[in-house]
Amino acid sequence: FDERDGVIWLDGAFVPWRAARLHVLSHGLHYATSVFEGERVYDGVVFKLHAHSERLCASARELGFELPWSATELDRATRALVRAQHLRDAYVRPLAWCGTETMSVSPRGARVHVAIAAWPWPHVFAPEAQLRGVRLATARWRRPPPDTAPVRAKGAATYATGALARQAAERAGYDDALLLDHRGLLAEATGANLFLVIDGALHTPVPDCFLDGITRRTVIAAAGRLGIRVHERPIAPAELDRASEVFLTGTAYEVQPVRAIDDRTFPVGGLGATLLRDYRDTVAAATASADR
Ligand code: PMP
Repeated sequence: FDERDGVIWLDGAFVPWRAARLHVLSHGLHYATSVFEGERVYDGVVFKLHAHSERLCASARELGFELPWSATELDRATRALVRAQHLRDAYVRPLAWCGTETMSVSPRGARVHVAIAAWPWPHVFAPEAQLRGVRLATARWRRPPPDTAPVRAKGAATYATGALARQAAERAGYDDALLLDHRGLLAEATGANLFLVIDGALHTPVPDCFLDGITRRTVIAAAGRLGIRVHERPIAPAELDRASEVFLTGTAYEVQPVRAIDDRTFPVGGLGATLLRDYRDTVAAATASADR
């Protein structure tokens, strides 16, 4: 990934892609004082950019450090980067971490760095997966209780279980993992939130130990507009037997149908397809009216 042409925004300036390096004694690398975002560019415009920039600032605060840039300044930097990289359909990865000024576990006194990189859109799954659906394997790793990890932050620390879970799922021939939470209830996938369709209504777990995704909130708002009932509640895995459909939501996944979880299979193309079309319409309208 490091041997590419182009530029990366690093601490307030564009640097050549290959020169955007950090020191091995960076605090963020040792103690996970590192937070990030995942954003999607449609036709040159980042969808929900300000919400992502704000979440990056909030994630850092959850981990006890403050970014040296405001969300509005990060918006401006991101737009300048997308223009400089001549990107139309792309992925944006902002990242903030504590630097080398201390090796104490406390990041106090460490300089906070911010980088933003963007590259042409890479599919999370094969392009046909959005129509056919993906297969999930239930992971043996669980989402931690909120008093044992900074679960509201989109931070490196909480991705260790996701990285383990997705590797195990892929080794077993699945596309992604389904994580249960510390109580054994349904939680989310490794990079997306979870929805079940039961009797024509949406049911989604309460985001009390995982990210309340921006896409999740967009889809819940769309359901309200379309007259589809939404129940946010604790959901046991056994309830998957009652689900007529399952889908995932995330910046990269959009609205992604699930065709199997372990041995259970689900039809694809009902409400999930309706909500994907609506999501695409929402994106197109936002793109058409956005600042560039
Ligand atoms: N959960 C996890 C673990 C994620 O990585 C993501 C992607 N950021 C989401 C949920 C969905 O969040 P969003 O809709 O804001 O992309």
